[in-house]
Amino acid sequence: MALFTDTAAWVSTEHRLYADGVQRFMEQSMAPNIESWCDQGVVDRDFWFQAGEAGIMGASVPEAYGGAGADLSFEAITIYTQAYLADINWGYGIQSIVMHYLVAYGTEDQKRRWLPKLVSGELVSAIAMTEPGCGSDLKAVASTAKRDGDSYVINGSKTFITNGQTAELICVVVKTDLAAGSKGTSLIFVETDQAQGFQRGRNLKKLGMKGNDTSELFFEDVRVPVDNLLGGIEGQGFYQLMNQLVWERSMIGITALGAMDCGLQQTIEYVRQRKAFGQPIMAFQNTRFKLAEMKTKVEVTRSFINDCIAKLIDGSIDPATASMAKYWGSQVQNEVLDECVQLHGGYGYMMEYPITRLFADARVQKIYGGTNEIMKELIARSLDV
Ligand SMILES: Cc1cc2nc3c(=O)[nH]c(=O)nc-3n(C[C@H](O)[C@H](O)[C@H](O)COP(=O)(O)OP(=O)(O)OC[C@H]3O[C@@H](n4cnc5c(N)ncnc54)[C@H](O)[C@@H]3O)c2cc1C
Repeated sequence: MALFTDTAAWVSTEHRLYADGVQRFMEQSMAPNIESWCDQGVVDRDFWFQAGEAGIMGASVPEAYGGAGADLSFEAITIYTQAYLADINWGYGIQSIVMHYLVAYGTEDQKRRWLPKLVSGELVSAIAMTEPGCGSDLKAVASTAKRDGDSYVINGSKTFITNGQTAELICVVVKTDLAAGSKGTSLIFVETDQAQGFQRGRNLKKLGMKGNDTSELFFEDVRVPVDNLLGGIEGQGFYQLMNQLVWERSMIGITALGAMDCGLQQTIEYVRQRKAFGQPIMAFQNTRFKLAEMKTKVEVTRSFINDCIAKLIDGSIDPATASMAKYWGSQVQNEVLDECVQLHGGYGYMMEYPITRLFADARVQKIYGGTNEIMKELIARSLDV
């Protein structure tokens, strides 16, 4: 299967070649390790270096900062292929978002310091927005950064942070002005090897996505240079977050498509060989109708996602459309993978069958990146003009 529709105008020979290369790399270096990553609760640190060496990361980062200077459609291929090969653990999506914050808003010094290392895998990154007391309502962030001479002093705690045990560069959402509401929000980078007072909490036990080190983080009087403020101007954080969320939300829709392609393919193979009442499960009309329904949902999603990618390339994607990609993709992914499990019967509940992990991994897609309820709010707001 492929991310592309046959008629998508944005697809070039370079895209097809790149997709083949990414798939080859992931089949060799990622797929055989997924189970051990899930057992150990974290992706091998070395895999990040391998991905960097293979040129898989930072396709859309400008060449001057170590990237390939292409556009987001190449990143979309990476995100799709990872999901198509049944992985949700490698936190590259987050790394990609961090790179795009830097490309869009970073000072020249910040771009030069961090982008080449993020592209090569020398640095793993995280984004710390969510706190124990607030997730959907980001305006309520309580972590603070107080200016003290040439430093900011950060205090607060974060939770559910993807790549939390591994990250060496963390983009932390803080209030630099508590009285200014969302206008007092800023994004500040913490380099963990230089951060006294920074502590990683538990690697959280989860329903799915078990191979990612989703964690708590604690900041107690953590001092960072003022140069680590993204873009160098206080109070821009909310605006920076909102502008980049279109990529994060589109990515969740792309992941959904890859996971559905994977689950559907596995289910078709299973119902062909499994027999009941003297015939393959595939021969029952219910099975054929369920597969037909699923295939239709997947192809409708593929068309919409291809449309979103075209808009990501020319920069015309708007927050409501990206929210639709996230909401629709993750909703349909959960419906489709639930049916896939059902067609596997009892084996669909056994971890030795990949469909079981795909099903468990799918659930979080409706929650992170802004819940689907928040997506519907954003879509509805675009109608209320
Ligand atoms: C595996 C995983 C990885 C994550 N990775 C990261 C990460 O890397 N960085 C990060 O910062 N965060 C991360 N998160 C956090 C995630 O983004 C939040 O969990 C999510 O935004 C929801 O916030 P919350 O958990 O506080 O839920 P709440 O905001 O408490 O919401 C609870 C329920 O209330 C609903 N609700 C809230 N407000 C409204 C409203 N206005 N209208 C209707 N319904 C509403 C929600 O939709 C939800 O159903 C991750 C979460 C998970 C599970």
